[in-house]
Amino acid sequence: MFKLRAFLGVVLVLSLSSFALAQEKQKTAGPVPKPSDFLGFEAGADRKLADYKQISSYFKALAAASPRVQIEVLGKTTLGEDMFMAVISTPENLANKSKYKDIARKLADPRGLTSQQIDQLARDGKTILLITCNIHSTEIGSSQMSMEWAYNLATSQDPEILRRLNDSIVLLVPSLNPDGETMVTEWYRKYLGTKYEGGSMPYLYHHYVGHDDNRDWFMLTQIETKNVNRMVYHDWFPQFWLDEHQMGETGPRIYIPPNADPVAKLVNPLVHRGNNLMGADMGWRLEEAGKSGVIFGYSFDAYWPGGTRNTGWWKNMYGVLTEVASARIATPVDITPDELQGGTKGLITYEQQINFPNPWPGGIWRLRDIMDYELLVSSAALETVSKFRQELLRGVATMATQAVQTADPQVCWRIPMEDQRDPVTAARLVALLLEHGVEVHVNSDAKLYLVPTAQPYGRFVDEMMGVQRYPEVRPAAGSGILEPYDVAAWSLPLMMGVKAERATIRPDILNSSRIIKEAQFPQGGLSNANGKYFAIPAHENNVFALANAMQNAGGQVFLAQAPTPGGAPQFIFAAHAQLAAIADKLHLQLVPRPNLPQGASQLKQPRIGLYKSYVPEMDEGWTRFLLDKYEFRYKSLENKEVRAGNLNNSFDVILLPDSSKEVILEGRESRFGSSEEFPPEYTGGIGKEGVKALREFVDKGGTLITLANASDLLIGEDFGLPIRNALASPSATQGRAAVTSSDFNVPGSLLRVYLDTAHPVAAGMPSEIAAFVDSPIAFQTSPPPPDIKRSIIAWYPDDAKDILVSGYAHGAERLQRKAAAVAFQRGKGKIVMFGFRVQHRAQMEGTYQLLFNAIFWGGM
Ligand SMILES: [Zn+2]
Repeated sequence: MFKLRAFLGVVLVLSLSSFALAQEKQKTAGPVPKPSDFLGFEAGADRKLADYKQISSYFKALAAASPRVQIEVLGKTTLGEDMFMAVISTPENLANKSKYKDIARKLADPRGLTSQQIDQLARDGKTILLITCNIHSTEIGSSQMSMEWAYNLATSQDPEILRRLNDSIVLLVPSLNPDGETMVTEWYRKYLGTKYEGGSMPYLYHHYVGHDDNRDWFMLTQIETKNVNRMVYHDWFPQFWLDEHQMGETGPRIYIPPNADPVAKLVNPLVHRGNNLMGADMGWRLEEAGKSGVIFGYSFDAYWPGGTRNTGWWKNMYGVLTEVASARIATPVDITPDELQGGTKGLITYEQQINFPNPWPGGIWRLRDIMDYELLVSSAALETVSKFRQELLRGVATMATQAVQTADPQVCWRIPMEDQRDPVTAARLVALLLEHGVEVHVNSDAKLYLVPTAQPYGRFVDEMMGVQRYPEVRPAAGSGILEPYDVAAWSLPLMMGVKAERATIRPDILNSSRIIKEAQFPQGGLSNANGKYFAIPAHENNVFALANAMQNAGGQVFLAQAPTPGGAPQFIFAAHAQLAAIADKLHLQLVPRPNLPQGASQLKQPRIGLYKSYVPEMDEGWTRFLLDKYEFRYKSLENKEVRAGNLNNSFDVILLPDSSKEVILEGRESRFGSSEEFPPEYTGGIGKEGVKALREFVDKGGTLITLANASDLLIGEDFGLPIRNALASPSATQGRAAVTSSDFNVPGSLLRVYLDTAHPVAAGMPSEIAAFVDSPIAFQTSPPPPDIKRSIIAWYPDDAKDILVSGYAHGAERLQRKAAAVAFQRGKGKIVMFGFRVQHRAQMEGTYQLLFNAIFWGGM
């Protein structure tokens, strides 16, 4: 009976073609499974979660039973899971997927089309709506909601829903981080019914990067980011991206567009107009359904390009974020009215405002509420892209055309392949631009890459290749400026240490260049296989991967002084069966030499310990990612092991990733107020015994390396080093809390730093770099006692106006002449302290070598 009614409904409403009807009838062999029947519990019930395997099995069953649903695998995850998305539309649209992808591609790059042709494409096309869920694994509501919404779309006979499906194709990604979804559901189930129910995990919810998986969307370092990026900018070209998140428990119930200030200059305003159209519909549908606590113009700015949908703004894609208030995973929370608070951009006090017309009064808040809000916004998103289908499609072409027409066709970013310190990284920059869907040319002798600014993604190119100047937006006269949402700089050439410039190119050079599909990496291998030794200068990141790989393979590696004064030291490799193949894979060309240069010393692989606290620190994950990528061998080092002492028995080098002193000492995160309680086996830090053990480790000849805030641990009496943090107030000898953003504020910017290239840690580096700085640490040393040798490895310029390279720096004069990286030697022991983020989020390829050098120095 149900099926017959369903069948008639479709006929009456849509008068689909007989082909599509036949298909719908044919595929509906079994009943379309309901999430609750399939899972054995009601999705969204208190204390119940579907894990990723269940979600993915459900979607497979849905796709098998419904002609409106298909599954596409996007690739593997970091831990080897299949990452999938559901494609949902009418059977007829699904049968013509490639036609609609083709229209989307043409609208995204309408060069050569007349306005009549564009209008025709807008009439013929379907809006492609990408909805991504659960990139942050504890923000789990959307992954559960996705099953319900997909079921509704697969089974509804409501004429309005059928009309929307006929107008649009939905790409629904139930989780952007499947590994994390698995971790969070396992952790939640394990502690269900205990006092830790719904609490945080003591490890990152992505194998490497945790919450920073949503900071990776311009650098594309993680496999999950790459998978989705490929689908978006090379296959489907969705016009609209909705990314569903959750936020804190005690503020508004949901954030919808418009975004908050500031606004990025290079984003076409039509992007925001499209986003606001969707936001208006979301707000309407939420209020109509009696949902209170809806806010816009709050917290989330229109300036930063690092997250999912934001990166697409510069590529003429509409992109919207929603954030729903959280419960404790699947456990309800009870929020009293006095606990409700504002305190963030757009809602300073929790009161009725025009961007928050109907405050939520407090009460019980549960997973079911989160999913109900998310069902409404998902449905409003589909309604918007359906109602404004032609306008939105034409809008994409309009933005692309404007990007081309407002740029000078002769102005390009030039990336020369010659004269690069690290040609492999230069080629990687080209490869990254291609991954982003950017058009790249190469000149006739293949030695110069040209990236035209007059192309549909031209504004993205300018944003990523140029420097940033963070706008000083003041909400009121005389007030402080609006803080950036995340960081303030993302200048790829500066971060990667690649020479690139924006220049006017002669037409003959431009005309003789050709478009490339792939970046050409330098030819690697041995320039001549007949040699006892093979040499390469140490000024490329991959050289360190080669040195590690060869030692891992049992080869001998030597380090020799630079053959010319001021040059880079040389790595010398003894002949080895795998040397040519590995050098080839790493795009490194080695030159044979008959003997070892005088004074060459054989490298010993240092035994590396990477400190890992129970308060998950993303920088620990990023450091691990980098060490894995460059084939360092290391062990994670936990509190217990540090406290136990005798560290020299197991390690030569200990790395403390960026972390606050409280986290390292006490296992407590003070930055976000009271921190959460972990089960007893995950509590505490290294404590006083740990500090003593680290000092002993150095006294007995170990090397201790501290990254950014972790350096605070060594400032003070315990280590007896003649150093203080120049940015701490005079009364406090340590810590960052004393400096307020009113007299010093560097929110993730690139600053100019000079290097002492005669020091082993800066050897092979240029004498001037852009360093990524996001914490108020600058070193002030004093003349040391006779048993300590101190070296200033890196320092800021004398003149404050020379300090900022890209981003924002307020109070830069406080950095003048201060040290940015220092080293101490006492006996055989070494300490290297970096005040900046030397490998920030695997984006600072231009400064990786400082970290690699420091580790290798520890092995000598
Ligand atoms: Zn989030």
